[in-house]
Amino acid sequence: MSSASIAVNSPSSSNHFIKDGVTSVNVNRLCSFSFESGLFGSKIPTKKLSLSVNGTRPTRPERISYSGLEPGKASSRSFDVVIVGAGVIGLTIARQFLTGSDLSVAVVDKAVPCSGATGAGQGYIWMVHKNPASETWELTKRSHQLWKMLAETIRDQGMDPLQVLGWKKTGSLLVGRTPEDSVMLRKRVSQLSEAGVRAEYLSTDELHSKEPAIYVGTDGGAAFAPDDCQLDAYQAVSYIEKVNRSFAPEGRYAEFYHEPVTGLVRSTSSGEFEAVQTSNNTLYGKAIVVAAGCWSRSLMHDLFKGSHIQLDALVMPRKGHLLVFENFNPLQLNHGSMEVGYVDYQNATFPLGLDDQSQTLSVSMTATIDMMGNLVLGSSRQFAGFSTEVDDSIVLHIWKRAGEFFPKLKEPSLTDFIKNRKVRVGLRPYMPDGKPVIGNVPGLSNLFLATGHEGGGLSMALGTAEMVVDMVLGNTTHVDSSPFAAEGRCC
Ligand SMILES: Cc1cc2nc3c(=O)[nH]c(=O)nc-3n(C[C@H](O)[C@H](O)[C@H](O)COP(=O)(O)OP(=O)(O)OC[C@H]3O[C@@H](n4cnc5c(N)ncnc54)[C@H](O)[C@@H]3O)c2cc1C
Repeated sequence: MSSASIAVNSPSSSNHFIKDGVTSVNVNRLCSFSFESGLFGSKIPTKKLSLSVNGTRPTRPERISYSGLEPGKASSRSFDVVIVGAGVIGLTIARQFLTGSDLSVAVVDKAVPCSGATGAGQGYIWMVHKNPASETWELTKRSHQLWKMLAETIRDQGMDPLQVLGWKKTGSLLVGRTPEDSVMLRKRVSQLSEAGVRAEYLSTDELHSKEPAIYVGTDGGAAFAPDDCQLDAYQAVSYIEKVNRSFAPEGRYAEFYHEPVTGLVRSTSSGEFEAVQTSNNTLYGKAIVVAAGCWSRSLMHDLFKGSHIQLDALVMPRKGHLLVFENFNPLQLNHGSMEVGYVDYQNATFPLGLDDQSQTLSVSMTATIDMMGNLVLGSSRQFAGFSTEVDDSIVLHIWKRAGEFFPKLKEPSLTDFIKNRKVRVGLRPYMPDGKPVIGNVPGLSNLFLATGHEGGGLSMALGTAEMVVDMVLGNTTHVDSSPFAAEGRCC
């Protein structure tokens, strides 16, 4: 890909590069971008942003003075925005910049898309389990609106959103088995209705006629949200990548996969970070967005080591297992479903520095049929470090839990399906206060964080992307971004 089509000046100052706690200086200022104010001089609230282009890019110095790396092997590239992390959050942010502005974008990942939490996601784009009083409500609602608009646009272009995104309007069932659950579900239905989301309470008989395979006893019931949808994470990511790559020929997009980020380059004059160092490249960006999922905390820690910057992003890996059964005939489902206990587990907060992480294991039933007709059963939650090893005891636990809601799964044994069973494991980026971090690092106006979406990153992706792009461009955000600010939460 050619370099970004933006204008640059070449004032003189120096750069700091921080790596493994060592700061070193480059006496030749590499470049700065010719924007008037703010990051990109834009207060344009909507539509495409056009940048004025004055002149051409000066040649970068061949060599930068680094510590901890072999810079001679690294090449320099310039973009308006550099995004670290090619999960659903990083990739949708890239797409939003590319389709909504004229800026050029680089995406860097230590591996490939879907190697993180995104590849394990069940794909629920749901409101039924959300609380309208929660701080993530508006962001989630906006994000779903954007997903629905995207599915519509795809349909308008003559394609099938099911094929392109794995998009299905299945409706959602939040189910409970006890009288207490039923009280809670009735309350949830009235809260959702008041907040403008179509929802109805289903008695056991009504539930049975909607979803004959599910059994919640005589005291249970369900909250049903007919407009809830689902997507296929792999399919959706593949589409987003395709859109992003369509901007490569004009020099506005490049991806650097299998290139772990190892450092940052800092300007001594502005104090801002102006480049990301990967194993192979130095990628200059007027704005840098870290969307590295559960690795964001350790990455930021490594990048800031030895500098005066105090930032603890707090995000932790929360491991989840999901079972996928191909050609599974015994169970047919009309809707996506989830047991009500999921909500408590998802929202549960735990003190940092847990000693006995095994105590936090939870399994709650989720079940749906994906775009290929596979049965997808979930899911577990636990704090088990960064391991993504499959734990067979958890797999069995998920199967048994599903059997408590779907009697047809009680008859066969899990081993009967060993050949057509796949297990997906992912590390949800968990924030102790239950909401993502979306915003600039305090004191560094061009370094942004977008992470901590836990079990709702697919759902909140497009809203997050819109928010990040508006922040970077200096536009008013569509949804109030203050609950997601890093300030006061990541110190
Ligand atoms: C079992 C399970 C079920 C789920 N179901 C749903 C659901 O139904 N609906 C929903 O909305 N959400 C769901 N989620 C949550 C959702 O998958 C996540 O919230 C979302 O994928 C997070 O995306 P992300 O881009 O922040 O992180 P990730 O997908 O983890 O991406 C982060 C990326 O950063 C890269 N990276 C890390 N360190 C570096 C580095 N040093 N240099 C370069 N790159 C780096 C990684 O390689 C990775 O690709 C589920 C998650 C799990 C585990």
